[in-house]
Amino acid sequence: MQDIVRISLAAVLLKGYICSCNGARFAFVGPSRWHISARAAQLATFAKDAPKNYNLLSMSSQTSSGNNGTYDYDPDVSGVFVDGFPLLPTPTRPDDAELQASLRRVPITSYDDGPLPRRELQRSSQPLRVIVAGGGLGGLALASTLINDGYDVHVFEQATQYKPFGGPIQIQSNALWALREINPILFSAVEEAGVQTGDRLSGLKDGRRYEEGWLVKFDAATSARKGGLPLTLAINRVVLQDIFLKYGVPRERVHTSSKVVSYNNIEGGGVEVILEDGTKVYGDILIGADGIWSRVKHHMEGLDPAEAGPKFAAKHARYSGYTCFTGTCKHTPDDIEAVAYKVFLGQQQYLGATDCGHGWQHWWAFLPDPPGTLTADNEPMLNRLKRDFDEWSPEIHDLFDATKPEVVKKRDLFDRLPLWNGWTDGCVALLGDACHPTMPNLGQGGAMAIEDAYVLGEIIRGIQHTDEIPGRLKAYERRRFVRASIAQYLSRNGSDLLVDWETLRTTPIIGEIAMWCINVFQPLTMNYLYSAKF
Ligand SMILES: Cc1cc2nc3c(=O)[nH]c(=O)nc-3n(C[C@H](O)[C@H](O)[C@H](O)COP(=O)(O)OP(=O)(O)OC[C@H]3O[C@@H](n4cnc5c(N)ncnc54)[C@H](O)[C@@H]3O)c2cc1C
Repeated sequence: MQDIVRISLAAVLLKGYICSCNGARFAFVGPSRWHISARAAQLATFAKDAPKNYNLLSMSSQTSSGNNGTYDYDPDVSGVFVDGFPLLPTPTRPDDAELQASLRRVPITSYDDGPLPRRELQRSSQPLRVIVAGGGLGGLALASTLINDGYDVHVFEQATQYKPFGGPIQIQSNALWALREINPILFSAVEEAGVQTGDRLSGLKDGRRYEEGWLVKFDAATSARKGGLPLTLAINRVVLQDIFLKYGVPRERVHTSSKVVSYNNIEGGGVEVILEDGTKVYGDILIGADGIWSRVKHHMEGLDPAEAGPKFAAKHARYSGYTCFTGTCKHTPDDIEAVAYKVFLGQQQYLGATDCGHGWQHWWAFLPDPPGTLTADNEPMLNRLKRDFDEWSPEIHDLFDATKPEVVKKRDLFDRLPLWNGWTDGCVALLGDACHPTMPNLGQGGAMAIEDAYVLGEIIRGIQHTDEIPGRLKAYERRRFVRASIAQYLSRNGSDLLVDWETLRTTPIIGEIAMWCINVFQPLTMNYLYSAKF
């Protein structure tokens, strides 16, 4: 029976790769367990558990203050830290003032004074007004591209303050290409603040038989260079967000403490957006970029408003079966010059670690806990991890030993199937995790949100009359659905394979086939994902 399951797994994996390679219409016929990342913990910690050092809208000033314009990467000396991890100050440029002025050239309109008229856009002095629900990666990327082109954009973000989860993030070559197209100045700031990882080797190792060397090696550079894309880098989410707010979206266009709860498409065009405090705001378009627990999606699907959010995760999403623990620590592995990240595999658990620059490492561990599990007797999570990874590679224990127990974070991972009913409703569309939450295994969830933003920006720029909006939003969905679904699917399949490694390894023939599939198709996957064709 187990063999049948594994054969199916290998077949499905193969099918996923073939679909991705052919760009064929994609069908989900995978095993029933979907693993898609949840933003629940991040959303819950926003506002509730305000960080000491950070405020969504005041980060730049804080990074430079206290350091007299210099920055010391050693946390024991000075610097701004999130979860123990030191952050680089946002880059500056000699022409910063002009850039800021250019971003502010479109007057801010009053967004709560009733519906906007239907209009011809070329002849109108009134630009399209786009309301973005959610100021995460995808929302800020979309706002950046539209503001650059002179649109009247308002971002409504539920958080009062930003509490990061997950530490540094990989921005992969395809997303970097999109960012460069969206705004080259924003891109160069990201490049400056990030740490290149795409120029080094990465891969998989056996957690216990680590001395046997690499099981699979990933070469991100060749695919990126072939497509003319920038090389993948790692950057802290907070720094990335601050760069968006400096070079992409004027701060007065981000309205914090503003939770979108529902909307109404207005007859004749436009949309009325309702905030939690009852305020009604009006735009020509509403984009729901409000993450996996999207209220815009919830309303679009006609679900009970009383059942929205992570509290009802088990009803409106499916638990992936795994909890993800993360930590960041000051540690320099011996192979840092040659290796960017490595993942150690075992049975029903695995751990990965990546360089995040300046002598720091970020690690993440998957364990098969039921959702909401607390550690016994409030035992520090790190102690539990040390126990669960006992007899695994000493490299893992070097990381644990270098990590302060209080910086370890934990979040349950939920998943959801693709939205076959669509991503749009009249003048409303979804973007990023709101419509295609993606498991973290391939590090492509945020990348897909940025790709969405690039494509949607291009589509919105083509609109010449407000009457075209519903049709153009549908065109955006058609253009994005297959690729975003393939990324979801490959990430989920990756997750299944990684957690079942020991079974695969010890099962004659099937295990070998699966490893052969990974080794043969992994470069094809890279080529598919690392592309500017989306
Ligand atoms: C452990 C982990 C590691 C990851 N690593 C990577 C990686 O290396 N690379 C990568 O590309 N991806 C990675 N991802 C995935 C990535 O984080 C997400 O795919 C990405 O953040 C999605 O962006 P988004 O803008 O769609 O949603 P989010 O980033 O979740 O942003 C949504 C925003 O909307 C706000 N919001 C929510 N509800 C409302 C509301 N009702 N009204 C107003 N605002 C609202 C939230 O506060 C938030 O600011 C990882 C995920 C996890 C869990």
